Amino acid sequence: MRQARAVVIGGGIIGCSVAYHLTALGWRDVILLEQGRLSGGTTWHAAGLVGQLRSSANLTRLIRYSAELYGRLEAETGQATGWKRCGSVSVARTAQRMIQLKRNASLARAYGVDAEVIDRDEVLRRYPPMRVDDLVGAVWIPGDGKVNPADVTQALARAARAGGAELREGVAATGVRIERGRVAGVETAEGVIAAEVVVNCAGMWARELGRSSGVPVPLHACEHMYVVTNPIVGISPDLPVMRDPDGHVYFKEEVGGLLMGGFDPWAKPWGMDGIPAGFSFATLPEDWEKFEPLMTHAIERVPALESAPIRLLMNGPESFTPDNYFILGEAPDVRRYYVAAGFCSGGIAAAGGAGRALAEWIVEDRQPMDLWPADIRRFAPFHADPRFLRERVSEIVGVHYFVAFPNRELTTGRGLRRSPLHELLRARGACFGAKMGWERANWFAPPGVAAETEYSFGRQNWFPHAAAEHRAAREAVAVFDQTSFGKLLLEGPDAGAALQRLCANDVDVPVGRLVYTGMLNERGGYESDLTVTRLAEDAYLLVTGSAQTTRDASWVRRHLPDGARAALRDVTGAWSVIGLMGPRSRELLARLTDADVSNAGFPFATAREIGIARAPVRAARITYVGELGWELYVPVEFAAGVYAAIREAGADLGLADAGYYAIDSLRMEKAYRAWGRELTVEDTPFQAGLGFAVRLDKPGGFIGRDALLRERDAPLTRRLVTLVLDDPGALPLGDEPIVCDGQIAGSVTSAAYGHTLGRAVALGYLRHPDGVDAALLDGAALELEIAGDRFKARGSLRAPYDPQGLRVKA
Ligand SMILES: Cc1cc2nc3c(=O)[nH]c(=O)nc-3n(C[C@H](O)[C@H](O)[C@H](O)COP(=O)(O)OP(=O)(O)OC[C@H]3O[C@@H](n4cnc5c(N)ncnc54)[C@H](O)[C@@H]3O)c2cc1C
Repeated sequence: MRQARAVVIGGGIIGCSVAYHLTALGWRDVILLEQGRLSGGTTWHAAGLVGQLRSSANLTRLIRYSAELYGRLEAETGQATGWKRCGSVSVARTAQRMIQLKRNASLARAYGVDAEVIDRDEVLRRYPPMRVDDLVGAVWIPGDGKVNPADVTQALARAARAGGAELREGVAATGVRIERGRVAGVETAEGVIAAEVVVNCAGMWARELGRSSGVPVPLHACEHMYVVTNPIVGISPDLPVMRDPDGHVYFKEEVGGLLMGGFDPWAKPWGMDGIPAGFSFATLPEDWEKFEPLMTHAIERVPALESAPIRLLMNGPESFTPDNYFILGEAPDVRRYYVAAGFCSGGIAAAGGAGRALAEWIVEDRQPMDLWPADIRRFAPFHADPRFLRERVSEIVGVHYFVAFPNRELTTGRGLRRSPLHELLRARGACFGAKMGWERANWFAPPGVAAETEYSFGRQNWFPHAAAEHRAAREAVAVFDQTSFGKLLLEGPDAGAALQRLCANDVDVPVGRLVYTGMLNERGGYESDLTVTRLAEDAYLLVTGSAQTTRDASWVRRHLPDGARAALRDVTGAWSVIGLMGPRSRELLARLTDADVSNAGFPFATAREIGIARAPVRAARITYVGELGWELYVPVEFAAGVYAAIREAGADLGLADAGYYAIDSLRMEKAYRAWGRELTVEDTPFQAGLGFAVRLDKPGGFIGRDALLRERDAPLTRRLVTLVLDDPGALPLGDEPIVCDGQIAGSVTSAAYGHTLGRAVALGYLRHPDGVDAALLDGAALELEIAGDRFKARGSLRAPYDPQGLRVKA
């Protein structure tokens, strides 16, 4: 039997990049299998735009590296890549789009990418064939560029071969062998290749390939089209790439003519009956009817296009995912099975950086940086359902050029997971959003108001209604449906010991105690942030964010020692969670139960089973909104009855239904951290200000302890701070640069308007070479840059609301 350390499946730009970077990191024993010929899938017909700016610092970093790599590969390999640093212009036809472009320019600066807001004259100077009289403005990014995708692939392949990899064309992987939850090899028509690592880079084939090994890879192909014209007078090779997102189109110079493509607001899924056998260097039939609206918009922008002879209408399939981010990382349930696929029309730009990041992940057997937006563990198996995908990707293609309004919800693939309270809340005016397939009430429309969010960058229509919900929680009592919480049950005689090793806090507590803790990696960064309740000597309930369940379950399972007598079960769907929060929550609860809910009888951070409205409920005294309150874990069949009883009993106490927008503003005022925003694999508890939830001295230690010990005595040069804006009208949304004494020194992780404070509150990491401490925050001039404008802010290491937590423990 043949043997290799790693087998990469797929010889598109992604597979070749992974193979190249594995060899660059010293792995010689790498085989790449390509069923047809290299670059014959989607890669060969890509337009070749390389735009650097993405919505997260690390994804942007990946593409910056791609650009740098494509610039030097020719010298390294002798194979040209066509890389040209021509810059890019993105134009705005509307005021809202211009706000977005200005926000992007601010974001770019925070990520170290040069970006300049330019006016119409400057647009015309940079892109003479463009019509500009209808434009509001534009952004110029000088470092963007273009490549020839097939040539980049060949260059990567050549470099991989030079590094020792074997690239085999005409050999399909027919299956992946898994033994005891771990990769064992790859099956081909020529026999089995035993392998320690498999990387699924099979493009639009990746879902089917993954499915055959029980690895969900949620992607679906969609048609994507562009035209190429014959040469046009005035189009020179130096012309920048140009994007006109309001017209859904982009332009690139191509052999003296224009390549013009578009992201149709409603695209056509393709490959419903599977990808046809032998599909290689193939295209799909021209669809002029579908392309016509894009062509009309494009002619509005570049009038010369109207008379230019069209050389070609290219229609090619590309894979899209449910959220428009690519899929990277190790499969949650199969060790050493990696995926890099679903590049949503950005695979050429991403290939260099994504290939390197994945190669590092493989070689070090741990992720190299926070890549959560692209992490395969953000999905659950239901996301790979073909019907769901088909519906969703038809919308996702257009998302590229949507105005990225805050809170924008997708409209397709909705209603997958519903709380038992769903219809009751709908009847009470709930406006729902979706997270991890769950429908969740974001805000409640009072009678006479439509339960529909109207999108804008300013205060949206729900603002006064969420404010009222917020006030109810602060001043009376509010009821929240938090059923979507991830809930994992760890049971068995060894459960306690295993969890103690995984958690930074001490979870060896009496039955009925609830512990707030992080699960850290060896570098001390957050793999998860959760609450752990000891249900019995040998049983723990882990409650975690809705989006993290797959990931957390995978992390825990992976770290159960071999032979440990402990089993993990996902019980998310078994319990509804009803949050009862506010200073009058005790009074309300007392009306529904015979249990003692006094402070002495039911202290903070404890949990126990009590009868509520005749139902067996596990009540936990804990809060994410900073008030006295209980989370009620109700078996789903009792949930509607308990909710009805709460409503009835609370009628004279000022009880209000409240949604996730109120949770956002309440938690921001209390500076409660969120995993994935404030807490990522790169952030440690000390940096995040959560040292109180770490027990460095607990017997046996925990994963990450050594890293924390090293960090403990050094000044914290990067630290999470809260920022309260001076101007009550300022509205940060998250990701804005933090400016310290005139210099960009960090960025916002979350922001919301704090209705109690009467001002917006932000959380974000601030960097300073001498250390970030209270004295620095008191003395420094702090500002946030919102869409290009700077707003003064007061910084603190403490929560702006009830910093001592007196209300929570009342
Ligand atoms: C019209 C169009 C324009 C685009 N423009 C741009 C752009 O300007 N910029 C940009 O960044 N991106 C662009 N893209 C997207 C880009 O082309 C893709 O994201 C990228 O090519 C994906 O590369 P890949 O390696 O994942 O997939 P592919 O190129 O499809 O490679 C996958 C390979 O896996 C092989 N394979 C599958 N199954 C097996 C198996 N079982 N065994 C062996 N081999 C297997 C296939 O034969 C294929 O060669 C565009 C896409 C389209 C359609």
